[in-house]
Amino acid sequence: MNVPKEIMRFCPKCNKHTKQKVSTYKPGKRRGSALGERRHAEDKKGYGGQKFPKLAKPAKTTKKWTPILTCTVCKKKWNKRGIRIRKVELIAH
Ligand SMILES: [Zn+2]
Repeated sequence: MNVPKEIMRFCPKCNKHTKQKVSTYKPGKRRGSALGERRHAEDKKGYGGQKFPKLAKPAKTTKKWTPILTCTVCKKKWNKRGIRIRKVELIAH
C-alpha cells in the first residue's frame, strides 16, 4: 500500500490541524540483562526447557505496521493503531 510521507492531521497538543510526518515504528534492541529475558533464559534451561510449543504453522500471513506521526510544529510524536499489511511504501505527495 502506498502511504503519503506527510499528512494533514489534528494535533491535540497544538489543538489544530498541522502537517505531520509519517514513519514506521521499529522495536528496540532486546537487552539480555532485562529481568524478563533472564527469567525466560532460566526457564528454558535444561531438559524439557521449552515452555510452549514452537509455532509450526502460523495463522497470520502478514505483520502489523505501526505508523509514527510526528507533528512538524511541536515535534510531538504519536503512535497510530497498527494495521495488518503485507507491504508499505511511503511516497512523497
Ligand atoms: Zn503539534
